[in-house]
Amino acid sequence: MEKLFDFIYNCIYNLGLVTGKIIGGFFKKIAHIIKKVFHFNKASFSSAKTFVKRSVVFVLIAAVIGTSVFVAYNTGNKVKAVALIIDGETIGYAATRKAATTTENKVAALLGEDNAPEIELKEKRTVANNIRSADFLLQTIIEEYGDELTPVNEVYIDGELLCAVKDGDVIEQAVAEVLELAKKVYPDSSVSLAEKITVKQTYYSPDNKKLYSNAQFKTALNAPDTLTVRHTECQENVNYTEFETVEIQTNTLFVGDTRVRRSGQNGTEYAIDLVTYVGDKKVLSEPLMSIALTQPVTQIVERGIRAESLSMGSYTVYQTTGVFCWPVVNLYTVTSPYGHRSLGYHRGIDISGANASGSLVVAGAAGTVTEAGWSTGGYGNYVKIDHGNGVETLYAHMLDNSLMVSVGDVVQKGQTIGRVGNTGYSFGAHLHFEVRLNGNRLDPAPYLGLG
Ligand SMILES: [Zn+2]
Repeated sequence: MEKLFDFIYNCIYNLGLVTGKIIGGFFKKIAHIIKKVFHFNKASFSSAKTFVKRSVVFVLIAAVIGTSVFVAYNTGNKVKAVALIIDGETIGYAATRKAATTTENKVAALLGEDNAPEIELKEKRTVANNIRSADFLLQTIIEEYGDELTPVNEVYIDGELLCAVKDGDVIEQAVAEVLELAKKVYPDSSVSLAEKITVKQTYYSPDNKKLYSNAQFKTALNAPDTLTVRHTECQENVNYTEFETVEIQTNTLFVGDTRVRRSGQNGTEYAIDLVTYVGDKKVLSEPLMSIALTQPVTQIVERGIRAESLSMGSYTVYQTTGVFCWPVVNLYTVTSPYGHRSLGYHRGIDISGANASGSLVVAGAAGTVTEAGWSTGGYGNYVKIDHGNGVETLYAHMLDNSLMVSVGDVVQKGQTIGRVGNTGYSFGAHLHFEVRLNGNRLDPAPYLGLG
């Protein structure tokens, strides 16, 4: 074959020399014609016409010959390669010394240093078509010298060797069976495997323990811990969309007070989510689409900015320089302060004045009503309000049937809670007002800006 190629190559090469002569003659002719054209006459014109005709034919022929030479030269060109030689016989050619060494090492690893044939590497020129891949060369040598070895397909699960089987088709078939079974379990889902399965071709000795029969392989593949099925399905949900809250400022409320002007309402939406499970564990949920069923209603909250006395419409609340507003409307006389007195230690202050009975009692600050009703301990009709942070206020001796709040009510600063009376352990209509911090009754005076 090679000899035939050499022959053809030589022929074409010689043709090339002849062509060279023709080209030389061609240029001479051009020079001659140009000479003639410069001394123009009828004869020289007809001669030029003939020349053009001949030139076209010549260029066509030259093109055909040139292409043939080019193709023949490239096909027949020899390149550098490394021959693998065993016992004087060339097994094949590798493209580089590195590729040849790789093959050599693999042969040694598979057959063992003692059994592997001695491979001689020799740089040699050969036609490109003769060069083979490392795997192909390995296969050639193993087939020739590895009597004991048999080609197998190693199966790797996420890069970890599971086993090897002789029959490559069984791998694809077994994996397909696993997915088919999963499809029956999750009929409305798309199923795939969480693990990556890779197959590598190599050679095993028949007694290799990792070499499994088809049945053994299927058993291993279907073992509970080997593969994890991932399934993705569409799920319909009705979701809530949370309402937003906006605050507006108002001087109809004291600083620190708030009032809900419009209650917020959650909206609802119908959604389809694409949910992925690995085994039974949800790993991903992606919204596919959603349609709003009802829009959320924004909550509007008024926040008080008022720092001085505040008209509440029918009455006016007096903001003291203390934390609390004055707890009674229109009564400003402290008839009994906090501390020792003839009746014993007084743990609040009493507030009264002209026409005290029936005067409006108001919450000293915003808070939540924790007690409201009749006291068996002498307070009569009373209300206790929790203001947070351990601070509480108490309002006692109020008129029967005058309480305007119940336990659990949220009250604003200055909001009416009852009327001044004379119930319980009381001698004359007045409000008994207490301030408590972590359950201890303190002097209310500083909290009301007194003294
Ligand atoms: Zn009192």
